Amino acid sequence: MNRRTFISSVFGSLMAVEMEGISYASSLLPGATEKKEWKFLPGSKVPTKRLGKTDIDTPILIMGCCQELDPVYDKKLHRCYELGVNHLDTAQMYAEGNSHKTIAPFIKQIGDRKKLIIASKVHLSEDEATPEKFIKNLESSLEDLETDYLDIFYMHIVKHPRLLEKEFIEMGDKLKKTGKIRYFGFSVHHGVAPELMLKACELGGGIDVIMFKYSFREFGYDKLNRAIDACKRAGIGLIAMKTLGSIPDEAEEIVPWTSKNFTKIQAKLKAVWGDERIDGIASQMTNIQQVHENAWAAISKEKLSKDEMEKLIQIAKVTDHLYCRGCSYICEGKLKKKLYVEDVWRCLLYAKNYKDISWANYCYKGIKDYVRKLSPRDIELAGKLCPHNLDLVKIYNEVEKIIGS
Ligand code: SF4
Repeated sequence: MNRRTFISSVFGSLMAVEMEGISYASSLLPGATEKKEWKFLPGSKVPTKRLGKTDIDTPILIMGCCQELDPVYDKKLHRCYELGVNHLDTAQMYAEGNSHKTIAPFIKQIGDRKKLIIASKVHLSEDEATPEKFIKNLESSLEDLETDYLDIFYMHIVKHPRLLEKEFIEMGDKLKKTGKIRYFGFSVHHGVAPELMLKACELGGGIDVIMFKYSFREFGYDKLNRAIDACKRAGIGLIAMKTLGSIPDEAEEIVPWTSKNFTKIQAKLKAVWGDERIDGIASQMTNIQQVHENAWAAISKEKLSKDEMEKLIQIAKVTDHLYCRGCSYICEGKLKKKLYVEDVWRCLLYAKNYKDISWANYCYKGIKDYVRKLSPRDIELAGKLCPHNLDLVKIYNEVEKIIGS
């Protein structure tokens, strides 16, 4: 799909479409920060989409389970389920390693495993990764989830093509045959996504689903656009994550959001759903209000207006210098040094924007000692090499100040 076709499919008709069974019960302008009430008529469900060549019909909104869940009765998960969001995306490392154990009671409460789509991930760095270690971690994940199988098993935060070599693809095939997983894939957060996605296509099978970072901020990124097209042709299911393209809220407020149809968060989700190549969005929803806000947008048949889309593009433009794309082959590659730029930036985002200091600390822990030994001059030089003008000196200083202790 070329960019023009995609943008026009996102804009869609500007006519307001009355949604079946749903009413928008707020007199407040969407985009304002006040709490709104989202009402749903009984039976309203988030639409589903076939996930690549799999036999999974995934809701287009997927519950991201990185947050702490209530191990006794999690109201968010149950509300999601009522609204058709029966696909849970978790990972062994989420909630500081507790996510699986807190999802297990929910699976039991639903009472029929087949009614849920459970996806989980195991992260191993390219230096330590072996098929045996992945299998061992998968088995312990299944034990914690108290289930016999995963619908999708992802290698998590893949940064290197080594993890797409024969031994790992064969591991995925073997696990599918044993019934421990139904489908296999990987998640990718970094700027290496286009290369890894294309490599997955070249394999001619083995990778069923890819979860990757994709938001309105990536719309003009041709290399990624081509990789998405290739995955679509290859029948690989595509799940978008980090779709809000988050940076500190106040920075985005330079462009006032005045839409009466959608909040800014809803518009960001709609923009990605408007790309028909994307099968679903994994979104962390930490309270019922967020579940309602996101599900309402997913159910709404109304498309983004030209004005709403232009506002998003304007936001992306004026805040470009605050958003790290993970293209460290530019800043680090030229320096020939590993600086963990995108990881540091993401830790700061978790702390400042999501206000989740504990998760930020958890993520920073693994790189903290290394980062502290970096020369300030290298950090400054990397910042100068960044084509998006990120102020890396400020970012590294802030990380230390906020979560370094
Ligand atoms: S700092 Fe700039 S060049 Fe480096 S990864 Fe981030 S966006 Fe890319």
